[in-house]
Order: sequence, then C-alpha cells, then structure tokens
Amino acid sequence: MWREQDVKELSTEEVKRGLDILRELGVVEIVFSGGNPLLREDIGEILDYASRFFITTVYDNGSLAAEKIDALRTVDFVAISLDSLDSRKNDYLKGVKGSWKKAMQTIEKLHANGIRVGVSPIISQFNLYEMVDFTNYFLEKGIPVWYCLYSYDPSNDPNQLFKIGRKNDEFLITDNRAMVELCDTLMDIERKNSNVLITTKTLEAVKNLYLNGNRIWKCRALKNFFIIDHLGRVAGCHLNPPAASIFDLPDVWESEEFNALRRIYGECSKCIYLCYIVYSIHGSVVGNLEIAKEKWRSAKLFLRNKPLRPLSLVKQR
Ligand code: SF4
Repeated sequence: MWREQDVKELSTEEVKRGLDILRELGVVEIVFSGGNPLLREDIGEILDYASRFFITTVYDNGSLAAEKIDALRTVDFVAISLDSLDSRKNDYLKGVKGSWKKAMQTIEKLHANGIRVGVSPIISQFNLYEMVDFTNYFLEKGIPVWYCLYSYDPSNDPNQLFKIGRKNDEFLITDNRAMVELCDTLMDIERKNSNVLITTKTLEAVKNLYLNGNRIWKCRALKNFFIIDHLGRVAGCHLNPPAASIFDLPDVWESEEFNALRRIYGECSKCIYLCYIVYSIHGSVVGNLEIAKEKWRSAKLFLRNKPLRPLSLVKQR
C-alpha cells in the first residue's frame, strides 16, 4: 500500500470537512482502515476530531499502533488483525516474518496503556479449526474479538476504489460443516461473554450461508454503509466504482441516481465480506437496538465520551 500512496490524498482540513459532512448526514460510526491509516502523519489530529462525533475504530496489522499510542487515546477501538496463535502460521498468512510477535506485543502494550484494543482474525480454511481456541485465549485476557471472513476480490474494474483479498484456494472455506459448528460455538460463547463482538443475528446469517447457501440478508450498500477512499471518493462498497465525491454527498444522497444504485446493490450477492454483512443486517433502527441490547456493556463503552445520542437514533434513510 505504501508503494501506492497518492500525492493527491485529502489534506487534514479536507478530511475534517468530510467528517463534518458525514456528521450532518447522521453517520454514527467510522472505521479507519487501509493500507494502514496510521501511516498518515496527521492521523492523531484526524482521530481526535473524528472521535468527538463518531464511534471510531482504527485497523492496524500490529506494525504501527504501538508507536502511535498517543494518537489512539481518543478512539473507541483499535482492531489489530491477527489470524493465528501459531506464530509460523500467522507470519505465513501475513507474508512478513516476525509479524505475529510484533502484533502480540502491540496488543499487550495497547491493553496495558488503557487503549481499547481488540483482535480481529480473518476466518479462513487455514485457521478455521483453531478459531475457538483463538477466541478463548483473548477472552481470558479480557481482550475483545471480532471477525472477518475470508473473501477474495473478483473484480477487475479499474475504477474500483481499492482491492481487499486475493484469490487463494488455500484460504477458501471448504469445510462448510466445520464453519457451521464454529458459528454455533461462537453463538454459545457470545451469549456469555460480551467481548465477542459479533451478534447472534450475524452468526445465524453466516451459519445459513454455509449450511444451505442461503443469504438471509439483503445488501444495504450505499444505504447503511459506504466507503470513502483517500481521495474523498465515495462508493457503496470497494467492489463498485465511485458514485460521488464526499463533498457532493449532501446533494446526491437522496437522488434518484443513488436510489437506483441502492436497488442494484440490494439484489447483489457478489461478496461475503463480514463487515458488509454486519452493516446490512444491523444498520436499521431495529438493528441498532438489537446491537445495543445484545452488546449493552460494549455499547456503553462505545458511547463513553460521545454526545448523548443513542444508537437507536441513527438517522435512517
Ligand atoms: S453484496 Fe453488497 S457489498 Fe458485496 S459486492 Fe455486492 S453491493 Fe458490494
């Protein structure tokens, strides 16, 4: 990613202006992902500004967060991506020797410094059978766990904002039965431990997918969620081309053009990226109430320092 850094990246002031627009639109949660957002020198200022108004999560692969603790003090969650308790497996998955050790040290350091850190594995065939042990290991340390699901990027559209995941048969989940069992086990654990940050409804949806291939949700891209890249381009998801600039968002949000895209995305079943599934399932008022009810202790943690604006008051369109 650092090789692809674009000199036209939004300035600090432009990012803040964009955040103001999102706030006006009623957005409640922002996830800063990458590449690695911590590569920006002004990231502390951006996160400080964003955290005043939004539930704010930052993703890091464990390589930078420990050196940026001051920049992370205001965010609600720092998600460290880690895929295995086995250092060799993890380093193989990440493609960088020593990445497991660095990520584990980062998690410990952030935790010790009072940063709200969690661990975020990508569930794939490669680590499927160790996911329960992995989850229990971090829960015992009081560290939250939430999950991604291996999905590769089939798009060759040169206009898409960025790519996530390459096709690799080694990672494609082939043992559907084990995946179904994992969903059942995580549902059991999740009922007892609010540090498993995935909801029963999401686990039910994933279970159904692997049990009988049914998608029991409709994609709500450009409605419940959207993505913005470093140039300020907005798209429903990273597999679709940009639909607007963030600075034009207030003008186009209610447009027929956007509604037409929402109808197309609502029928789409091209991907199984777990974050998109979660936001599709839980983006409505009812969905937010479900999260608040199921994850109340975590929700309180999220809402600390925020204006008193419950999740259920998310502006829906
Ligand atoms: S299912 Fe939704 S998130 Fe996935 S590619 Fe289609 S529109 Fe994008």
